[in-house]
Amino acid sequence: MTFTQHKSQKNANTDFDAVIIGAGFSGLYMLYRLREAGFSVQAYDAAPDVGGVWYANRYPGAKCDSESIIYNYMFSEELYQEWTWSSRYPEQAEILSYLNYVADKFDLRRDIQFNTRMRAAHYDEVNNRWRLQTEDGTHITATYFITGVGNLSSSNIPKFKGLDSFEGDWYHTGHWPHEKVDFKGKRVGVIGTGSSGIQSIPVIAEEAGHLFVFQRTPGYCTPARNHAYDPEFIRQTKANYSEIKRQTRESATGYLHKLIHDRSALADSPEERQREYQKVWDRGGFGLGTTYNDLIINPTANETVAEFIRSKIGETVKDPKTAELLKPTYYFAAKRPVLDTNYYETYNRDNVTLVDVKSAPITEITPKGIKTTEEEYALDILVFATGYDAMTGPLFKIDIRGKDGISLKEKWAGGPQTRTYLGIANAGFPNMFMITGPESPSSLSNVPVSIEQHVEWIGDCLEYLREHGITTIEAKAEAEEAWSAHCREVADATLYTKTDSWYTGANIEGKPRGFLIYVGGVGAYRKICDEVAAKGYEGFSLTPTSAKETIS
Ligand code: NAP
Repeated sequence: MTFTQHKSQKNANTDFDAVIIGAGFSGLYMLYRLREAGFSVQAYDAAPDVGGVWYANRYPGAKCDSESIIYNYMFSEELYQEWTWSSRYPEQAEILSYLNYVADKFDLRRDIQFNTRMRAAHYDEVNNRWRLQTEDGTHITATYFITGVGNLSSSNIPKFKGLDSFEGDWYHTGHWPHEKVDFKGKRVGVIGTGSSGIQSIPVIAEEAGHLFVFQRTPGYCTPARNHAYDPEFIRQTKANYSEIKRQTRESATGYLHKLIHDRSALADSPEERQREYQKVWDRGGFGLGTTYNDLIINPTANETVAEFIRSKIGETVKDPKTAELLKPTYYFAAKRPVLDTNYYETYNRDNVTLVDVKSAPITEITPKGIKTTEEEYALDILVFATGYDAMTGPLFKIDIRGKDGISLKEKWAGGPQTRTYLGIANAGFPNMFMITGPESPSSLSNVPVSIEQHVEWIGDCLEYLREHGITTIEAKAEAEEAWSAHCREVADATLYTKTDSWYTGANIEGKPRGFLIYVGGVGAYRKICDEVAAKGYEGFSLTPTSAKETIS
């Protein structure tokens, strides 16, 4: 049997203890965890191979903003010791190699069905089973239904008039072709200046004949200062495996950097602040936001770091008009900040033009390019770096229905806050678990740390249910309400909720607004989840095995 045949083969069995959707960081570990515990389990992924977003995000310059040594699994020390990252920030290809290595090491592919999009997952209350259907019409049943669909996997392509008429090629950064896109000598337009745009723009600019960047809202960038890892650093890292694991798990965000000064930014003089910000800037990476303890809660404190970055933009970008357009005015970090490599410098190139589509919005895509209210730009290639329908979007791609046929979409339609219990479970959806679901730390953390926490919690929970002869677990409505209220309260104390972003659902037309992430801290959240488990799954209804279960 060839490798390819093996990867795409179908499992003849269609009844499992657990079905997992996704074969990225979440799905791979969930599969391993449950298989090790003796459950029959099968994962499904629409892609032809493992990797999740790292399979799909192949745009030029794609890499991760978490440092390599913590952007990996920590559950297996053996794996941690075996794998060696090449540089401070991992590139997409290296992350994908890592996930392939994991899949091979633990022989995971034999329980993953690729090229299979799950169309529907309906809870059958009479038989206490999840009934799933793939897009090719195959029916599957399972006791537990677990989503590992990622938070940023459902692309947002704005509904511009005329896109179909565009005569050139167009791409979304989240679904990039495997073949190299040839920008040489071409007139290229990039729409969007979030993480994906900011990473791809400098790389595309090096090759393109002319690059037009269509910017609506500028990002706050700090230098990544990426570099090859020194072998001695790698040796120390591997020797410190247990400590790194502990620190990331107990931290606020799943990273190793900690609060630098436990005082207000306003307690320092402007000169002291400048020195402190400069130190972090010189080191590179995320860190500015943790220089003082009130940068994400106090608008005046926040303005000091925002102004620091604006001054750097002014120093770097030679054309004063372009520099002004690149300066963000919203609260620093309220939208996801970005680590950059030569981003601001790119605007000093003769072949790069920044187009302000805030003051002159895009009105349509024409056969020849992009038309704004002021001008038409002729383009050969168009790149949508326009982001994602985050958090809820990937879940809504599957028709998920719980008790009484109520869909997850209907349950969450009301806004302003998504209702979940711990971001893991939902009242009305027994035996369903979400890995990094809405209202968990998810995307505001170093995600692999949050994924491992959810996977281990879910794995422990299923073992507990098995040991105690329980076949149904369901979040209680009152526990869910209390959790959502707590999420809201914590978020409202910060500046995150005072700015429109994908965190709040504001980037998608018609999406109910609500802050979709728990910002109480990764370590604190872990403790809450552990306490819930220690109290016999407090906030959940547990129903013992019914002898009458019938599976048709
Ligand atoms: P994003 O942050 O949502 O950025 C989308 C960009 O497209 C924004 O600049 C947005 O402008 C613009 N846009 C959307 N619709 C538009 C329209 N109709 N007209 C003009 N501009 C429009 O998306 P992303 O850059 O793909 O990043 C999403 C998240 O994925 C990141 O925040 C990060 O969490 C993750 N990510 C991480 C990395 C990394 O680790 N380096 C890389 C890529 C992605 P507005 O701001 O005005 O809406």
